[in-house]
Amino acid sequence: MLIGSYNLGLVIVSLLMAMLASYTALDMAARVAAAKGRAAFWWLAGGSIAMGVGIWSMHFLGMLAFRLPVAMGYDSSITLLSLLIAMASSLFALWIVCQSHLSWRRLAASALIMGAGVCSMHYTGMAAMRMTPPIHYNLPLFILSVVIAVVASGAALWIAFHLRHRASGVRRLRAAAAVVMGIAIAGMHYTGMAAARFPANSRCAMAESGVTTGWLAMLITVFACAVLSIALITSVLDLRLEQRTAVLASCLADAKQELQFVALHDGLTKLPNRNLLNDRLEQEIQNARREKSRFTVLCMDVDGFRQINDAYGHQVGDALLLEVARRLRASIRTRDTLARLGGDEFVVLADVGEAGDAVSLAEKLLTAVREPVVIDGRQLRVSLSIGIAMFDGREQQQGDLLRDADAAMSHAMALGHNGYVFFESSMSDDAQTQLQLLHDLRQAQERHELLLYYQPKFSALDGAMIGAEALVRWNHPTRGLVPPGDFIPLAEKTGLIFQIGEWVLHEACRQMSAWRDAGHTDWTISVNLSALQFNHPGLIDMVHAVLARHSLEPRYLTLEITESTAMRDADTSLVILEQLHEIGVRISIDDFGTGYSSLLYLKRLPASELKIDRGFVRDLMHDTEDAAIITAIVALGRALNLRIVAEGVETREQQEFLTRLGCTSLQGFLLGRPMPAAQFMEAVSGPGRNSAWERVGLLV
Ligand code: C2E
Ligand code: MG
Ligand code: MG
Repeated sequence: MLIGSYNLGLVIVSLLMAMLASYTALDMAARVAAAKGRAAFWWLAGGSIAMGVGIWSMHFLGMLAFRLPVAMGYDSSITLLSLLIAMASSLFALWIVCQSHLSWRRLAASALIMGAGVCSMHYTGMAAMRMTPPIHYNLPLFILSVVIAVVASGAALWIAFHLRHRASGVRRLRAAAAVVMGIAIAGMHYTGMAAARFPANSRCAMAESGVTTGWLAMLITVFACAVLSIALITSVLDLRLEQRTAVLASCLADAKQELQFVALHDGLTKLPNRNLLNDRLEQEIQNARREKSRFTVLCMDVDGFRQINDAYGHQVGDALLLEVARRLRASIRTRDTLARLGGDEFVVLADVGEAGDAVSLAEKLLTAVREPVVIDGRQLRVSLSIGIAMFDGREQQQGDLLRDADAAMSHAMALGHNGYVFFESSMSDDAQTQLQLLHDLRQAQERHELLLYYQPKFSALDGAMIGAEALVRWNHPTRGLVPPGDFIPLAEKTGLIFQIGEWVLHEACRQMSAWRDAGHTDWTISVNLSALQFNHPGLIDMVHAVLARHSLEPRYLTLEITESTAMRDADTSLVILEQLHEIGVRISIDDFGTGYSSLLYLKRLPASELKIDRGFVRDLMHDTEDAAIITAIVALGRALNLRIVAEGVETREQQEFLTRLGCTSLQGFLLGRPMPAAQFMEAVSGPGRNSAWERVGLLV
């Protein structure tokens, strides 16, 4: 018997080769499983070649490590056949691994086939030496080598199948599996070698004519390098891809989270917005239905916010809202929801089932907000108007609850702010009424239901009439005469104000030009502009066009804008006012004293008149503070060279007092109510009185 020996270095290299081939095989299996269509086909083909070459190289490296004391060579066609067998069994293995399902029976059958393939490759490779007499195999060791091949194949298939879709930590697992598989493959080879017995007179028929060991070594080196580089390249690509995917995935996750937050929260206060509120409301309703419990919705409007925002600008307004939001948040429980619906409107969704508890909560919120807020050294005061609606298990939808709470809030505002009102069913009738009114208002203009009343204005000193203020009225077919306070806000909400406003200006200018033609060249007509009209980019052109159409000189027209409109965005207002001033129309600041005027700004306004708000005149005789305010406004007007008009003069005492205080013009029910043009002329030209206001006043 010939005794073979092993070159330890080469044995180790063959073992490493087996591991490398295993690693490549596992890597390829994952790629085949992940790819689709043509790509899957190419990965399968490439994978089986690489894996086959790997296993085969391992086998021949093992053969190189084995030395017999006779010259050796290999039959090239049998060697090639063994390589093809290796590739075919690899192809089969990869195909099995990318099936969607791997049952135990299927695994067992596959392990048998693959094991048989590996064995065939090994023993065909052995046959390539063409030994004479033939190699004799020790049966138990031969069987053991087959068992090892089958078990190793089964294990390899199972591992590859389970690793193919794993994403995290897969490389480490794959390397560990490759080590185990490599040992198993090498184990099979060396067990097979141990089974081989070479009789003493053995001769290798291929020693001269076959592939020599030198050739074999070169071939294997090339193959080994190929396998190595494929394994390396795919692994590096894999790593890069994985890293990039991980970065991308985390970016995507961040972006998604951010988008979700933005979609569901208010940008300024970061509180939940209407979308999120609706969602929570829906959940709360379902919850309450299930548990037969109740909860409360509170709608809140920040009283005085608009004025502060107008007077001090958006930055201060925003800071104020943030502080209000903070205080509201601090006043509710963590499981309650505080949302901002935009502007100065907040909503609390509270787990409160009793009316008494709702009252306590409302009072807590009122108290929290009532404390002065200091921003940029200014002490600001605001309050809340709260509307409360309770879910009581009736057929209420989320929209109903919010609408009810909102209707109740409007009532709280109408009741003079700084308080709370519970919803009552009569309130929703109001909403219905508003809808009907809006419907009618849309048709009012076409049906010629709008008309102008004129209220005279007098010089305080001599009682001479100096003009009139045009006040719009709506002659509703069923409601009768509707005052502007009842429909102007509605018109503003819906944009109808632009049409209505333009009509008012036309009609007033037409009337004024008629009066001028009748000889009243010392009168002026005052027309009220709503904030929306004032900020409309077409305003200047519109005023121009209307004046031209009625051939009215601009000096006959006074435009009244309220103090809060003028102060809302001071710089923009200034530009608009200057353009109006350039046309030659006069500007009057209406309802003066109710907003937050800045004196500095007032000085720059090209206004010619301040109208003291009716509120100050009303309580003038009983309230010394009001008298002081009027005195201050008069002084201010004088300093700035403005005329001061007192409106709402209802008594002789008021008239005398206001005249004494230095008001330049007076307007009020005492001197003349608003009336249609025809009646107005009748009153003005009535028979012999000392002064015009006496004549008109007597008509009242
Ligand atoms: P305003 O411009 O301050 O008009 C004065 C309001 O005070 C008028 O109410 C007038 O009737 C009322 N008034 C006058 N003298 C007295 C008095 O002695 N006592 C009392 N208690 N009230 C008096 P009116 O006509 O109901 O108008 C209310 C507001 O509606 C106006 O306030 C104005 O802001 C707005 N408005 C009226 N017409 C128009 C219009 O054509 N366009 C726009 N945008 N707003 C208008
Ligand atoms: Mg006015
Ligand atoms: Mg006014």
